[in-house]
Amino acid sequence: MIIVLRPGSGQAEVEEVVRRLEALGFGAHVSRGAQRTVVGAIGADESLLAESGLEALPYVEKLVPILQPFKLVSREFRSDGTVVMVRDVPLGGEEVVVIAGPCAVEGREQLLETAEAVARAGARLLRGGAFKPRTSPYAFQGLEEEGLRLLAEARERFGLPVVTEVMAPEQVPLVAEYADMLQVGARNMQNFYLLRAVGRTGKPVLLKRGLSATIKEWLMAAEYILSEGNYQVVLCERGIRTFETETRNTLDLNAVPVVKQLTHLPVVVDPSHGTGRWNLVTPMARAAVAAGADGVAVEVHPRPEEALSDGPQSLTPDRFRQLVEEVGAVARAVGRACAAPRALAAS
Ligand code: PEP
Ligand code: MN
Repeated sequence: MIIVLRPGSGQAEVEEVVRRLEALGFGAHVSRGAQRTVVGAIGADESLLAESGLEALPYVEKLVPILQPFKLVSREFRSDGTVVMVRDVPLGGEEVVVIAGPCAVEGREQLLETAEAVARAGARLLRGGAFKPRTSPYAFQGLEEEGLRLLAEARERFGLPVVTEVMAPEQVPLVAEYADMLQVGARNMQNFYLLRAVGRTGKPVLLKRGLSATIKEWLMAAEYILSEGNYQVVLCERGIRTFETETRNTLDLNAVPVVKQLTHLPVVVDPSHGTGRWNLVTPMARAAVAAGADGVAVEVHPRPEEALSDGPQSLTPDRFRQLVEEVGAVARAVGRACAAPRALAAS
């Protein structure tokens, strides 16, 4: 249920509503919009609210039920789009944000070379896995804490906030120490303990869609994070399993406008995992931005043929520069902005 306060209601009124909700056994989530403040009442038996006298308070305009199973994530709860700040980079604002970096941090030279190239080309966030969820236990599993240290070094040198995956609840404190945004990977989208753990950090979270997850299941996963009080969640469409074998996954671009209608959270698209083939990445990045994505996340490697993971879907720095240019043109065509290449001090 949403409790909508009348315009002009102040802090004391909000606190009174929260106090009353908590006394009834509800969780209370306050959302201050441009026009109105609303309080989401989550949990227990909603019929209690009808008899609670809340609606009779002079500063309460109305009580509105949220019909979707996801509550805090829904557009009904917050009609303005959420802007998630990853340090100084806003996701969900006017700018289309390009996130780029290698699939995995493989070593210092590889990471710094990639970070410099993507920073110069106009990427705003650096991605790279230190803990890698691999299908085979014999495949490269990531550099772990050393990989996190290298990401932090790249951030200091090139000024790009860092997004990296965390795979287990017990790793959250370590990864949160280094990362600016925590990635929950497709394979962990329904690891509910992990979702709660990243929710408790208050750090921005990039929540990838599960390999076979419906949009509703994905949004319910986001609800776990918001239910811990962390509203800094960005959804990432990365392709789903279908009968099609020509591409690694089927990039579900329907999900972009669907999610935009159903939720207030930003959504980005990962055409690297979505297609599995480098020569499909730029066309699908353009399409994602045309469909309304708030950003794209792409894998870049200086020598894709030598990559320890996901080489076939990784762009070279030259091809990445081209992607940024084309994504920028589409962004402007749909009334959005996009970062241009940057001049960095010589390194
Ligand atoms: C990744 O982004 O490195 C990754 C492993 O992606 P996904 O979880 O979408 O497979
Ligand atoms: Mn990858």
